[in-house]
Amino acid sequence: MRIVVKVGTSTLAHAGGRMNIRRIEKLCKVLSDLKNAGNEIVLVSSGAIGMGVGKLSLGEKPSDIPTKQAAAAVGQCELMYTYDKLFTEYNHTVAQVLLVKSDIDNEHRRSNFHNTMSRLLELGALPIINENDTVSTEEIVIGDNDTLSAIVAVETNADLLVLLSDIDGLYTADPHKNADARLIEEVREISPEILALAGGAGSKLGTGGMETKLRAAQMATEAGTDMIIANGENPDILYNIVDNIPFGTRFYSCK
Ligand code: GLU
Repeated sequence: MRIVVKVGTSTLAHAGGRMNIRRIEKLCKVLSDLKNAGNEIVLVSSGAIGMGVGKLSLGEKPSDIPTKQAAAAVGQCELMYTYDKLFTEYNHTVAQVLLVKSDIDNEHRRSNFHNTMSRLLELGALPIINENDTVSTEEIVIGDNDTLSAIVAVETNADLLVLLSDIDGLYTADPHKNADARLIEEVREISPEILALAGGAGSKLGTGGMETKLRAAQMATEAGTDMIIANGENPDILYNIVDNIPFGTRFYSCK
């Protein structure tokens, strides 16, 4: 299987932005093992801004774009350094790919992206993708890695897109506010009723919320890729997901 796994800042970092070492170690171990079992893995990783905030001791996510971009530039290094170190322990080679929206909108650059990704996967490397926050300005920004991961899943013809987040999946109501909220295990059609369940924003350091995840689900399923939203707290669940054991919320592709 070709699987795109997107991991959010809330999964990778502690509340202050510093890296959650135990979590990232576990994630790299499971992904390495899934790769050893013959799956192709593409990782879309957030956390650059969050980790830059931690490393620069900024205290909280900045609101102005230049400081966000500076934080991302610092944090992206820490992210890739850590991924390289951890995946190397399991004998896997990582590749950094940074994208902006205009890369996808431009036919020529999009085709370059395709070619590089195909070649990286043929060579057995593990591409780790993030938005190129340093040069993304407000007008050309993809803005959130949920959307970016859906673009990547569509462009690479992935079999499955998994969004690991700090929530178990899509609920019938906000589970933080409503005790009767129930997890929806399967979505076969992203109807207006489903879209209406989006609720508000995400965590303090992350960017997306349920709205961007549902948009990602729409893009992925329309292109023939199933998508799962699951809690990234315990990366072991990826084994279950690959074994087709129901977990989180699964959005079935329209094809
Ligand atoms: N590109 C952002 C970062 O690495 C993440 C955007 C998101 O949280 O979706 O911090």
